[in-house]
Amino acid sequence: MTRIVYVNGEYLPENEAKVSIFDRAFLMGDGVYEVTSVLQGKLIDFDGHRARLDRSLTELDMPKPDIFDDLLEIHRELVRRNEVVDGLVYLQVTRGAPGDRDFAFPDPDETTPTVVLFTQSKPGLADTPASRTGIKVISIDDLRWDRRDIKTVQLLYPSMGKMMAKKAGCDDAWMLQDGYVTEGTSNNAYIVKNGKIITRKLSNDILHGITRAAVLRFAKEAQMTVEERSFTIDEAKDADEAFITSASAFVQPVVEIDGHPVSDGTPGPVSRRLREIYLEESLKAAV
Ligand code: PMP
Repeated sequence: MTRIVYVNGEYLPENEAKVSIFDRAFLMGDGVYEVTSVLQGKLIDFDGHRARLDRSLTELDMPKPDIFDDLLEIHRELVRRNEVVDGLVYLQVTRGAPGDRDFAFPDPDETTPTVVLFTQSKPGLADTPASRTGIKVISIDDLRWDRRDIKTVQLLYPSMGKMMAKKAGCDDAWMLQDGYVTEGTSNNAYIVKNGKIITRKLSNDILHGITRAAVLRFAKEAQMTVEERSFTIDEAKDADEAFITSASAFVQPVVEIDGHPVSDGTPGPVSRRLREIYLEESLKAAV
């Protein structure tokens, strides 16, 4: 089956979809994106992802595409056309293709945003081996720019981080600023100590994870204690549990940090419980 993608108002087979070589995302990394997961054919946390897209566009002075209010319908149509049961929808909005290369932003009356969406099918997304056994992470310096709260397509350093982890025989990298963990290359980072769930507070240092917001809400509703503060990598190595959250990994245990097992090196009860609650509650609210 040929995948059907969405490009600037059209649903097309992927091999017929085209974007200009002058597109600002291609030349300047001038684009933002969202990833929404699909479970049982339904979209998880869609409203949160759309709201964050709105914020990313505003922060970068990027015009809102005309189809902004149709995004739910477009997501659903792509899921339907591609028969996605479990997987994700990737959405990218760029500042468009002004027809030349220039550092200055183009006049928004003359250059309209480029909008691209495609699906990735991932059967069994909610029950991967990594979710059962946990992942191993290394720590690396956080060399990204200072506006990590904006979800831009400038993902070269996170990509390099994943490669450094892979080379070390691990799954991901936790990034450090002044010895404190900011986040994973594509996820938010947490530790659990003496029953407390600890995660860095929201600022420009990290992406405001949509899964993070939901998980912390569910944790508080379940009477768990949440402490939003920075933690060091040494504190993480000495924690009772560690885990990550993201739209495609949900809640995933971290069982090793820089070669040190976290506790006994197996997924702990708090991460397991949070994963169960998150999956159950977000499936109930899926659209
Ligand atoms: N931090 C970073 C750097 C990310 O790339 C992501 C996932 N895109 C997250 C956190 C998690 O965000 P979300 O829960 O919205 O997927």
